[in-house]
Amino acid sequence: MNVGDAAQIDSRGLDALIGVLAGLGYDTLGPVVRDGAVMPGPVTGVADLPAGYHDRQAPGHYRLERGDDSTLFGWAVGPGSWKAEFFPPTQELWRATLDGEVTITEPELPSGPVAIVGARPCEVAALEVLDRVLGAGAVPDPHYGARREGAFVVTAECGTPASTCFCTSMGTGPHAVGGFDLALSELDDGDGHRFVVRVGTELGAEVLSRVPTGEASDSDLEARRHMLDAAEGAMTRVLPTDGLAALLARNLEHPQWDDVADRCLACGNCTLVCPTCFCSDVRDTSSLTGEVRRQRSWSSCFDLDHSYLHGGPVRPSTSSRYRQWLTHKLSTWWDQFGTSGCIGCGRCIAWCPVGIDLTAEVADIARSDGAVRAGAAPPGPSS
Ligand code: SF4
Ligand code: SF4
Repeated sequence: MNVGDAAQIDSRGLDALIGVLAGLGYDTLGPVVRDGAVMPGPVTGVADLPAGYHDRQAPGHYRLERGDDSTLFGWAVGPGSWKAEFFPPTQELWRATLDGEVTITEPELPSGPVAIVGARPCEVAALEVLDRVLGAGAVPDPHYGARREGAFVVTAECGTPASTCFCTSMGTGPHAVGGFDLALSELDDGDGHRFVVRVGTELGAEVLSRVPTGEASDSDLEARRHMLDAAEGAMTRVLPTDGLAALLARNLEHPQWDDVADRCLACGNCTLVCPTCFCSDVRDTSSLTGEVRRQRSWSSCFDLDHSYLHGGPVRPSTSSRYRQWLTHKLSTWWDQFGTSGCIGCGRCIAWCPVGIDLTAEVADIARSDGAVRAGAAPPGPSS
């Protein structure tokens, strides 16, 4: 098979694919049910995937329910993103020991390649956003690069968006357009439970050649198109993106920032679940035995300490911290990295304890500004 070709596999074929990846030495991860949510975790076969599970999401609400069907990807996204696999919540940078003299050692970089099976197209887009932030630039993060380089990505196109999703607005889903080695589309209709597999790279073709496949028929491809059209049609949330970066840039003193601050708890949940937020903090801890460790941990622009410069925090109010988060995501990220910082997964909406919805906050600002058109293409930085 070649790049762009499509085949068909069933659950046994997907099981074989996961086995082939493990046999090639990949540290194979996929969606698993953990703590009442769909989360990334190690998988050794289809039996580990969340068969029959479906999520219900709304502002401040996430519930996982078990149906009597056998679909494996019948949910949208869970709280845990793939970010944690490449940019861990806590990472040791070095440790120093004192034994006559000071010795500084750095941890070994992760060696084994990782394969992720079942990442949503929006989540693949999130990894590409992180590639620009952590994997590029003057000083790329070696830990991120070591894990991300050589990662094998099997995406699962989305047929079941949650009410909190808006990937169509951000141009990141529900169909997969790039960033994957193989793309699955799960079909479960009168013709049975099966997957269309599309090849994204030569490595994907090589891996798929080791898996028993059948021909993707015209009716399979038509069923895939129908699934994706239905998913797009089911997406009720919209983030009008045409001119959005400029809209926010000219509304830094809008009263909506104080309005949202009356509701926001500054808890940072939205940043922790976000697949593109990358703020971190560095702390040193010392022991009485003469060992010092420097660790990097996820941080949040909602933390008061995060903007602490000499003399105090630059952003002391909740309104200034929420404004920083939202305007960075949707406006100044373009200036820094040439893309939006939001891929429309809706996690920050579902996992905000008070149900703050960034699409609604933007809509309120846009309403009084009147300059944004719904449904237009993503903007450049100055549009
Ligand atoms: S800002 Fe919200 S919707 Fe956008 S990528 Fe982050 S969690 Fe997802
Ligand atoms: S917007 Fe919601 S999740 Fe984010 S800091 Fe405020 S209360 Fe927490």
